[in-house]
Order: sequence, then structure tokens, then C-alpha cells
Amino acid sequence: MLARREAFPGVIEMNYQARQRLGCSVYLVHSQGEWMLIDIGFEETAEEIIELIRQMDFSLAKCKYLVATHADVDHIQGLKRAKELLPQAVVVGHPDCKAILDANDRILAYAEISAQGISIDLPPIEIEQLVNDGDKLQLGELTLEVWNTPGHTPSQLAFKLDRLLFSGDNIYRDGCVGNIDAHHGSDIPDFIKSLERIRATDVDWLLPSHGPIFKKRNEVIDATIKRLTGYQYLADFGTCAVEWPLLEEWDNELIKGFDARTAE
Ligand SMILES: [Zn+2]
Repeated sequence: MLARREAFPGVIEMNYQARQRLGCSVYLVHSQGEWMLIDIGFEETAEEIIELIRQMDFSLAKCKYLVATHADVDHIQGLKRAKELLPQAVVVGHPDCKAILDANDRILAYAEISAQGISIDLPPIEIEQLVNDGDKLQLGELTLEVWNTPGHTPSQLAFKLDRLLFSGDNIYRDGCVGNIDAHHGSDIPDFIKSLERIRATDVDWLLPSHGPIFKKRNEVIDATIKRLTGYQYLADFGTCAVEWPLLEEWDNELIKGFDARTAE
């Protein structure tokens, strides 16, 4: 039997368990013999992860939920294989995540970025139970509160478990956030609201979907909110920006005309 490397009572992160990077964070939450996974990652590691779980002496028949935090291929590609190995587990996700997977929308799922030559297999995945903000997932004696935290993508979920927040792609330890991309449905004002909600909540730890688990520090979140607030007015972010102040300056200057003697 493999010793369980619990990050917190009832919480094992599978990259930490393996002591090597497998892909995105894969959180196993367990209580009274029942367990669930928050994301599974790529297909090529799904079997290895489930084998590790078996070796940690969890009953494979007691997996209750397989959760998709959102529809990005690096988080969910392994769900089809996982469901084959854990047929009784219910695949859980947000309605927008289900819509992307039902449509096999390779662009919204980041399986296809043709300009960068990225083309990844997106197997058919059925979300069997829809969850949305305010819902609860019951596992043994634990209750996970479902949060919808749009910004990176409309379907982004987070889960609050007492003083822990499984925070998805909202923020990482270095203050970076999940990719902001118009083709992915990213929304900077929504992102800021999600970060403000995370800042305001009474959790001690953030358990992100990439990178190390870290303490919630408001000064880090503040710096990220400030950065994203600035993004809203930068042409760098194209249609994700809400306004480009230079256009108004240009409007005003067009009325006067260009004069090289006074222009800067
Ligand atoms: Zn991600």
C-alpha cells in the first residue's frame, strides 16, 4: 500500500502524491470511504493517477464524483478514460462546460489553436450532473460549496470546503491568472469580480488548478486585481478590453487637426 500524502485532512493532490508534475492539479477529496476528483488532467496520465489512488487503498467503487472545473482539454481530456475505469462515478460540471463538450468545441476547449500548430485529441465526454453557483456536493460528512467564478472562461468552477478553496484557474501563487483570451470567452470585468469574491471569503488556503497550493494573501490578490483593472483599458487585450482611452484623445485631436509644430 502507498502512504497517503494528505495536504489537508481529506485532501490529497495527486502531483504532490506522485512527487512529480503529472499535469494540472488533480485533487482527491475523501470522507468516510467516499472520494471524488476535482479535474483529472490529460488522458495519458488518467490511468496512472487512478492506479495510484488504488494503491493508496481507496476503493475504486467508492468514487462518487469526477468534477470538471471547466472544459479546457488539459483539465478534462482524461475524463472519458476515468469514467471507463470508474463507471459509477458521476461526471459533474457547469452547464457551459457541458455545452462545450457536447458540441466537441475544440476551440473553446483549447484543443485547437491552429495559429500555433496545437491540435489535441478531445474525446467525447458527457457531463452527467450539472452544478452551478450555490449548489452543494455532499461527500461522506463533507459538504463542498460550488462557486461559479467566470473570467478565465464562463464555466469556471471553484469549490469551498471550510477554510480551503479549490480555486481553479482564477489565481496562482505568483499572482498570475488563467489565460485571458477572447476566443475562450474570457471576460476581464467578470474576472475582477471573481477575484474580489475570493479575496472577501474566509479561507486560509487556495488550492489552484496549476502550481503549488498556497496561503491566501490579500496583498497578492490586490496586486492581481490592480493589474487586471489596468488590462481593461489596454489595446493589448483587444476585444477583452472594455475601453481604449487613446481613442477619445484621438477624437478630440482630430477636430483640431495634426500640427507637427505642437504634436508630441
Ligand atoms: Zn487551466
